[in-house]
Amino acid sequence: MSLSVNPHPPDVATLHPPAVIDCINPATGAPLGQMPVADSKAVTAAVERARKAQQQWAKSGFRQRRAVLQRMLQTILDETDSLCEAIVQDAGKTWENALLGEIMPVCNKIRWVIRNGEKHLRSEKVPSGLLLHKKGRIEYRPLGVVACIVPWNYPFQNIFGSLVAPLMAGNAVVIKASEAVAWSTQRFARVIEDALTAEGFSADTVQILNGYGDTGAALVRSRVQKILFIGSVANGRRIIEGSAEHLTPVVMELGGKDPMIICDDAHLEQAVHAALGGCFINLGQNCVASERIIVHRGIYDAFVAAVRARAEPLRQGVPTVPGTLDVGAMTTAQQVAIVDALVQDAIAQGARAVVGGCRPTDTPGNYYPPTVLVDVTPAMRIAQEEVFGPVMLIFRAEDDAEAIAIANGTDFGLQSSVFSRDRTRAETIAAALEAGASCINDFGLCYLNQDLPFGGVKYSGFGRMNGRDGLRAYTNPKAVLTDRWPLAIPARLYPVGTKDYDKARETLRLLFRRRWRDRVRSLFALMGLGTGKKEA
Ligand code: NAD
Repeated sequence: MSLSVNPHPPDVATLHPPAVIDCINPATGAPLGQMPVADSKAVTAAVERARKAQQQWAKSGFRQRRAVLQRMLQTILDETDSLCEAIVQDAGKTWENALLGEIMPVCNKIRWVIRNGEKHLRSEKVPSGLLLHKKGRIEYRPLGVVACIVPWNYPFQNIFGSLVAPLMAGNAVVIKASEAVAWSTQRFARVIEDALTAEGFSADTVQILNGYGDTGAALVRSRVQKILFIGSVANGRRIIEGSAEHLTPVVMELGGKDPMIICDDAHLEQAVHAALGGCFINLGQNCVASERIIVHRGIYDAFVAAVRARAEPLRQGVPTVPGTLDVGAMTTAQQVAIVDALVQDAIAQGARAVVGGCRPTDTPGNYYPPTVLVDVTPAMRIAQEEVFGPVMLIFRAEDDAEAIAIANGTDFGLQSSVFSRDRTRAETIAAALEAGASCINDFGLCYLNQDLPFGGVKYSGFGRMNGRDGLRAYTNPKAVLTDRWPLAIPARLYPVGTKDYDKARETLRLLFRRRWRDRVRSLFALMGLGTGKKEA
């Protein structure tokens, strides 16, 4: 079944936003301060500065680029607590989530790029094929300025995780951070600037701009060489429209509606914990959240009971110190409203909330409780649109075929999971899933393996982050063909002679015929056509 994607958000790029962003702590509603908005002139100026800085950066060697990344990594490790504090205040998430969901994956990515970047980006020799007198190589040249337009769900990771690959590949980077988490960008910018300037490079090599959709739209049209967009499907379409003006290539990392299939032979406890993690980590504000749990009828009742027992006592509140809460606040009030509208619609259509299911009215801050819905059917809006909130949808499947049909029955295709003790069965199901990744007996972990490409199919986007492809995505893989020997071998082309066509045909057959016997026949035919000297 394929209905529609989430219609929100509206085109904020047409709303003429204010000159500053009022930043608030989403867990308390307390103001944090204001951040200036970059208007279109500021965007143009930033891209211009980035272009100049890139000329110096492009000349740097891999050793120097590694040194800058190593400094960033060191600062992140030295200042982990204060970075987590900035994330917690700006996004409302718990300290544990800030550490494990943001700092850890970024450290993992930076270290992977330090260790593997040169291997995947240095020039590569390739065979010369028919051209025996020539040598071929691919040079992975930087593109120039790369724009990254990113969302709010992982304020730290969306910025650092986006910049590392294009930077290592020799590009300057201009990032448009989300208006919902503008406050923490000033803290993160210091880490980047200090690393660049300490190694003698311009701070303009990586810049972070704050603003609403207009700022992003101006960046899209600013003649950068590539755009990485991480965000909603609706805005992804707008980016593609804008990028058409200068034919700017784009990588699209969009929404998801990830299925998790739990077979009747799965390890129940393992599957229950994975489902809780997949749905409630970061309160489900996770592109790879396990939005749809599809459970085999043979294990369904036991699974629902176990999930209910573990989800009900989850502690939610203001994340002031580590170690006291299981989940924090949601980052935006708008997202709370979207989640609640989808949940209430599902309940009206016959779904049942066995845990949670309504928003609290007596607390300041953006809260929605961990919610478990059963009796969900694929025809409900909530089964098709991205929830991006703490809602576990449980579907019941009669057999593997029905589970696969439910899993593939949306417009999305980011990640997927399968739980079974039978490896062959799990692999067979995984092979049938339309997704950018399948994780067997776990959830969302593909992102943590930096050797694997990360990205989606269908409305979840195209292009890949991470791994070799994620680095090379920010290069011009320039083909270079050069002489193998210092010999001048003139190739006579003109004037065309009367036998040239016959000679070319026999040469073609000599080269490409399958059987040696036929090739020898072509060789003799060729010899019979003469030496190749020009007929008068
Ligand atoms: P969003 O699309 O509203 O905004 C993303 C960014 O685009 C923001 O910086 C925003 O200001 C900017 N923007 C908005 N309108 C624009 C326009 N017309 N031109 C240029 N830029 C514009 O998304 P969001 O609400 O911030 O984030 C949630 C979405 O992001 C979810 O759909 C989620 O699945 C997705 N996401 C995907 C991944 C992934 O890797 N696939 C990762 C994280 C989040």
